[in-house]
Amino acid sequence: MKPTRIALGGIMHETHTFAEVPTGMRDFEIGTLHRGVEMLEQMGDTRAGIAGMMAVGAAHDWELLPTLYTMAMPSGVIEQATYDTLADELVERLRATLPLDGVLLMLHGAMVTDDLLDPEADILRRVREVTGPDIPVVVEMDLHGNISPAMTELADAVVAFDANPHIDAYERGVEAAEIMCEILDGRVAPVVGIYQTHLLLSPQVTGTADLPLRAALEAAWRFEDEEDVVCVAVFGGFAYADTPFTRCSVVATVDGDLGRARQIAVEVGAIAEAGIGSARFAAVPPDEAVRQALAIPGGPVILVDSADNIGGGTPGDGTDALRALLAVDVREATVAIADPAAVRACHEAGVGEQIDMEIGGKADSWHGAPVRVTGEVRALTDGYFDFEMANSHLASFRGKGMDMGPSAWLRVGGINIAINTNKTPPFDLGQLRSLGIEPESQKLIAVKAAVAYRAAYLPIAAGVVEMDTTGLCTANLARFPYRNLDRPLFPLDDPA
Ligand SMILES: [Zn+2]
Repeated sequence: MKPTRIALGGIMHETHTFAEVPTGMRDFEIGTLHRGVEMLEQMGDTRAGIAGMMAVGAAHDWELLPTLYTMAMPSGVIEQATYDTLADELVERLRATLPLDGVLLMLHGAMVTDDLLDPEADILRRVREVTGPDIPVVVEMDLHGNISPAMTELADAVVAFDANPHIDAYERGVEAAEIMCEILDGRVAPVVGIYQTHLLLSPQVTGTADLPLRAALEAAWRFEDEEDVVCVAVFGGFAYADTPFTRCSVVATVDGDLGRARQIAVEVGAIAEAGIGSARFAAVPPDEAVRQALAIPGGPVILVDSADNIGGGTPGDGTDALRALLAVDVREATVAIADPAAVRACHEAGVGEQIDMEIGGKADSWHGAPVRVTGEVRALTDGYFDFEMANSHLASFRGKGMDMGPSAWLRVGGINIAINTNKTPPFDLGQLRSLGIEPESQKLIAVKAAVAYRAAYLPIAAGVVEMDTTGLCTANLARFPYRNLDRPLFPLDDPA
């Protein structure tokens, strides 16, 4: 018997359309970019979603046909030429794998390019042009995807991460590949229905331990126990991508009955809408946050700088947290800042040298002014580190490790500044430890994230204080000049 031939691939980006810095080919190159067999070699032995798909393929003796697998850190709108190059390559590599039995894809769901508000639907449409209508295409997506009806019409099944922080990418990849098995065996003939809620959720309220998503996910799992339900995916959406599909949505994949799929999506979506009144996010000004954090016994206390949420697309060079730390006499506080020029200055000075420079606040006009500091260069590295947490949010797409680019540890009084060339979200303690900073011995650690830092940092945290900082990932969505949203959406518009 001829082996089952399954193609694998993915193009992933979470696009903050209000960010001033565009996303180009270099961002994918320093993110993750694997072509052909390199994708199997680099991603196979990880806890990324694509690795879960590969594991199922190996168990079933599938012939796995890798195409292109790439992701860039969340950032501004993708330059059209970059998207076209990547999508063309994925499609051409896919064409070269014919004849095929199925296609498994990893997509984020909140990508935007210069010319396209729904590039994921464009990718799926172009994949369909290669495969035709009958070869199954199953997609695993990020919980922060903004899902369009077109995407659901083009895919045979849609699976999403159930957890934020995204610690279940591998398990959802297994689920997607097992759905592929059921389709190939003729056990299900799935159809996909969507309900687009009227909720625009800032990332701060998309944690799956909290309302409203927790209740919606519990309802989704109850439906998944029913015989004809293949999968129910709850998407928190990504509020900073200005598109007509931007919102919380529910996508139900059901055997045969589109009306039932839509009905399930509506029921689960209504639970999310009902839960929004119980969503809680409150932050205090940075100086007050530092005061509150210092009053908590032990450490480290995590200061959450969620407006400079790197995983939401900011440059990661916001200075509000650093300024608040410098204003008090604190021993062993840590903050990470992305600032290539500051890293260069540290590398030119050398370890043990004193240096005086401006740090942060340089990439755009959203994240505070640069801060003048005088400190000692304590360590210099090439910036690569292996993940300590195999299933971290960062590993969900990226696999094994992170290249922060040349990096430095600058000590200013009692404050440790971890300076990176490439912005690095605080999703793995290896980021600080690779520079020689021990997270566990800090009194305070400021993290540039909304929710996803929790998987790595809560296990060592003595407490958490939310800071009301300035930045592109502010929880105050009314600050953004939206043009493309399909309103009304809560909280921008009246809930009635
Ligand atoms: Zn996400």
